[in-house]
Amino acid sequence: MNTETAAAAVLDHWIDGASASPASGTYSSGTNPATGGPTVRIAGGDPTDVDAAAAAATRAFPGWRRFSAPERGRILRRIADAIREHAETFADLEIEDTGKPRRTALAEVENSAAYFEFYAGLVNLPVGDVLDVEPGQHIYTRREPYGVIGIITPWNVPLNQAARAVAPALVTGNVVILKPAETSSQTTMLLARLSAEAGLPPGVLNVVLGSGSVVGTAIVSHPAVRKVAFTGSVQTGRTIGRIAAERIIPLTLELGGKSANVVFADADLDVAAREAVRAFSANAGQVCSAGTRLLVERPVHDAFVARVAALAGELREGEDIGPLITRTQFAQVQEYFQIAHEEGATAVIGGSVTDDPALAGGFYVKPTIYSDVDNSSRIAQEEIFGPVLVTIPFDDEADAIRLANDSEFGLIAGVFTRDIGRAFRVADSIEAGQVFINTWSTGAVQTPFGGHKNSGYGREKGIEAMLHYSHLKTVVAVY
Ligand code: NAD
Repeated sequence: MNTETAAAAVLDHWIDGASASPASGTYSSGTNPATGGPTVRIAGGDPTDVDAAAAAATRAFPGWRRFSAPERGRILRRIADAIREHAETFADLEIEDTGKPRRTALAEVENSAAYFEFYAGLVNLPVGDVLDVEPGQHIYTRREPYGVIGIITPWNVPLNQAARAVAPALVTGNVVILKPAETSSQTTMLLARLSAEAGLPPGVLNVVLGSGSVVGTAIVSHPAVRKVAFTGSVQTGRTIGRIAAERIIPLTLELGGKSANVVFADADLDVAAREAVRAFSANAGQVCSAGTRLLVERPVHDAFVARVAALAGELREGEDIGPLITRTQFAQVQEYFQIAHEEGATAVIGGSVTDDPALAGGFYVKPTIYSDVDNSSRIAQEEIFGPVLVTIPFDDEADAIRLANDSEFGLIAGVFTRDIGRAFRVADSIEAGQVFINTWSTGAVQTPFGGHKNSGYGREKGIEAMLHYSHLKTVVAVY
């Protein structure tokens, strides 16, 4: 039986290098968001399964830590190769779980391979320093793995978010217990199987499936778990943060966003319009880094919004824009359509579910743009997690910065202008973990990623992530 067909009907945990059925014996049924039909039966994990994964990880840690760094790097590189070799299968599974367009799914698979490749190349970093304090002393610092890392991922970019956290955690010598979102676990499980085939020893990467409140809580609370990397909602981040505070373990929190895209009148408005559409519509708006607040200099606001609306109107539901992930999310976005109406916003385009009869049964909404929006309104402040953009005019640079920062979130931002001095001033003043000038966002694995304010703390991606998956020891010797 090959790995792909094994994953198709029943999805069990992956513990200690092998498939493991849930101690509870229960399974839930996955739903294909493009059709509303069933997908796989997903193991319903519980604390007993987390105990088994923690025991396997704890056993595996000393051995994995003693692997030579180049050998760890070689295994990660083989995992990257395996992801690429199985790109179509990964895309099929991701599409079944999330409904996203194939080219998006394939790009995410390639990006996932790139994480393993990137960190494989950095296996000897970061190493530490020698400190020159006094003669007769040799003082040095070294970075060491934490041990067992708990990783909890959401449903919107499943394989990618798993790869983003697993690769730097493993390359720095840690072992992992990973819990993917209950709605989209298939690609994470295939990643675990292929990693084992690529030579990753049993117990180094374990995947426990199931609900956040049961399995997620059990992972964060488990005494063997020494650090948690979480990607998901602010609400869950707070819940996990309370447990981590009690246990005094470090956390990386990658939470939500309501990112501002600031367009000045002097910008290349063709580029800015194209990027504004990409910013709010990619993955049907279900990305933490979506650009969902479009701030436009007042003299060009109306004409620019018309241009963005014309481009967004060309997006085909089912082709360029996939469905929302679940029936609940579908209902939630429709609730925001109602809130927008009550708040007096004008729907420039969209504001409803799809009217394409071929997509009936799926969770599709039209790409939506609202104007006549006040920045203090709910649709401008709350993360909708659908393809919904609000537009707000501003008067000058100071006004643009004030509006951009008037948000509980601070994940990413965009600035479009031909005035390079202004671009840098605005980039410096915006409270966000990353700012893009004359473009919107990047998937590049090299760029550190994380939030300010309620968007979280800690950083994933880049060399920076390796600092978050290792801690520093100082050694002082007198001779
Ligand atoms: P969520 O917080 O409900 O779930 C995320 C993960 O946490 C899932 O695996 C879930 O099962 C688990 N979980 C839920 N409750 C838990 C608990 N009490 N204890 C432990 N784990 C628990 O979020 P979601 O709805 O799946 O994802 C959407 C959110 O994620 C959005 O707010 C989005 O902005 C955010 N997100 C952030 C990033 C980022 O990098 N900053 C990336 C993607 C998504």
